[in-house]
Amino acid sequence: MRIPDIVIAVDGYSSTGKSTFAKLMAREFNLVYLDSGAVYRAVTLFAREENLIRRDNSISGLLKDELRGLEVSFGPGGTYIGERLVERQIRSMEVSSQVSPVSALPYVREYVDDRLHRMAESGRVVMDGRDIGTTVFPNAGLKIFMTASIDVRVRRRYEELLGKGESPDMEEVRKNLLERDFIDSHRETSPLARAADAFLLDNSNMTMTEEIAWARGLLQGKFGIME
Ligand code: C5P
Repeated sequence: MRIPDIVIAVDGYSSTGKSTFAKLMAREFNLVYLDSGAVYRAVTLFAREENLIRRDNSISGLLKDELRGLEVSFGPGGTYIGERLVERQIRSMEVSSQVSPVSALPYVREYVDDRLHRMAESGRVVMDGRDIGTTVFPNAGLKIFMTASIDVRVRRRYEELLGKGESPDMEEVRKNLLERDFIDSHRETSPLARAADAFLLDNSNMTMTEEIAWARGLLQGKFGIME
C-alpha cells in the first residue's frame, strides 16, 4: 500500500512496544524509522561517561556546553556517538535509570529536537517517542498514542533484557518503568501526553499482525486509500 510522504508520530509509555510497532510500520509502508528515545539515551550515556551525573541523579550544568561537541547519528547496527556504535550501552539498566532526569532538561530537549528535525528532512518518517505528536512534529500526518497494562509492559521489558544477555530483576524493571512514566509525564517541558488528535492503541492483548492491520485501516480511512 502506497501512502503519502508524511511523518507518523508514535508516542506512549515506556515498553508499550512503540519501537517494534514503528519498525514494522516503516517496513510495511516504506518509511524511515527514527528512534527519538535512542538520542536521549545517547546523551545520557555521554553524560555518564563525562562524569556529569551525580550520585543522586542530578546533572552538572556543564552538560549544556559539552553537548555542542556531541554527534549522535543512526547507522549500521543502531545508534552512534561520533564513529562509535553505542547501541548496546544505551540500552543498559544504568542508562535506563538515568535517562528520564537527563531528558527532562530543557536544553537537552532542544538539542535532541534539533537533531530529530534534521534527521526527518526526507518527510517519509515514522518516529517513536514521548512528545513527537505534541511538540516535535505537531503537524504529523498521523499520530498514534500507545499504551498497555503495566504487567504486560514489565514482562516485555524483562524478556527484552533477558534476550540481550542481561540478568534483570522483575521488581527492578517494574520500578524503573513506573519511575520513568512518572518523570516523563510530570516534567515541565514537553511532558508525555496524548495529543488531542492522536489515535489510541492499547496493545495489551494484540498481536503485531493485528496492530499493523489496525494501522493500515487508519491510513486507508485517513487518506482515502482503496487498496
Ligand atoms: O523510548 P525509550 O524508552 O528508549 O526512551 C528513553 C527515555 O527517553 C524515556 O523514558 C524518556 O525519558 C526519554 N524520551 C523523551 N522524549 C522522547 C523519547 C524519549 O523524553 N521523545
